[in-house]
Amino acid sequence: MKLSLFTLLFCTIYFFAHSQEIAITFDDAPLGDGNHYSGSERTDVLIKKLKKLNIAEVAFFSTTSHIDSDEKKQRLLAYAKAGHLLANHTHTHRGIKVLGTQAYIQDIQQAHQLLETMPNFRPWFRFPFLDEGRTIPTRDSLRQALSALGYTNGYVTVDNYDWYINSLFQQALAQKKKLDYTALKTMYITHIWESIQFYHRMAIQNLERSPRHVLLLHENDLAALFIDDLVKHIRNQGWKIISPTEAYQDPIASHIPDVLLNGQGRVAAIAKEKGYKGPFVQDSEDEEYLDKLFSQMNIVK
Ligand SMILES: [Zn+2]
Repeated sequence: MKLSLFTLLFCTIYFFAHSQEIAITFDDAPLGDGNHYSGSERTDVLIKKLKKLNIAEVAFFSTTSHIDSDEKKQRLLAYAKAGHLLANHTHTHRGIKVLGTQAYIQDIQQAHQLLETMPNFRPWFRFPFLDEGRTIPTRDSLRQALSALGYTNGYVTVDNYDWYINSLFQQALAQKKKLDYTALKTMYITHIWESIQFYHRMAIQNLERSPRHVLLLHENDLAALFIDDLVKHIRNQGWKIISPTEAYQDPIASHIPDVLLNGQGRVAAIAKEKGYKGPFVQDSEDEEYLDKLFSQMNIVK
């Protein structure tokens, strides 16, 4: 009896420590036309690719001021119709410092009113810039306001600079440059994979296990171009893609870290709470680093 209990415990610890699972989320949806895809083309491509990859559920965190036309509303509805989830990323994507606490809460409520009647809406809130407030009273007022609205924090565990690589890509397209798409794909996938590994290692080091992860991406042209290659790469490394619903059932979802740590995700915040001193950001989460890499990889011909 003792032995089997021990074995069960060992297997449970082993499973959790080595669980390599990650959910995919896209922020800022619906973004406008890019220089590669129009907004509607991008939505079509993402939906088709996710279906082909057998990914039944990802989440789109919507910045609702982007819903400025019927076409943009239809794009969100198309994601929902395809089985994906919609959640709240404020109405205007302005920071707490810019708006002040009360106006920031109103910004959340405004987005809520636009989203709550949409299909597959989930009361999850993703802080723009992953900024939960710079003081304890601000942080706690926001936590209380979200809780009163019935929300939980739609946290990420894997932060990265996909948006910055996309901005370099968009600039090059605007300048009518010829691009090496294979090199661009390698840069994008390597950057995201390194971010996953960085927070996976941080979790094992500080939480004694790697949780069910949540990957932050943006609903941009790069995501639509390379989501299939990215997912194949992640799966080839032995990881499983799970749904955000599954990811948010991990015990870290109910572990609200009592720290002020902005700009990174929940793994980093829990690590800080446990006394980890950093680094909280990997080398490639840096604009200068990515500028240099983009030019060294000869992405622009
Ligand atoms: Zn955002």
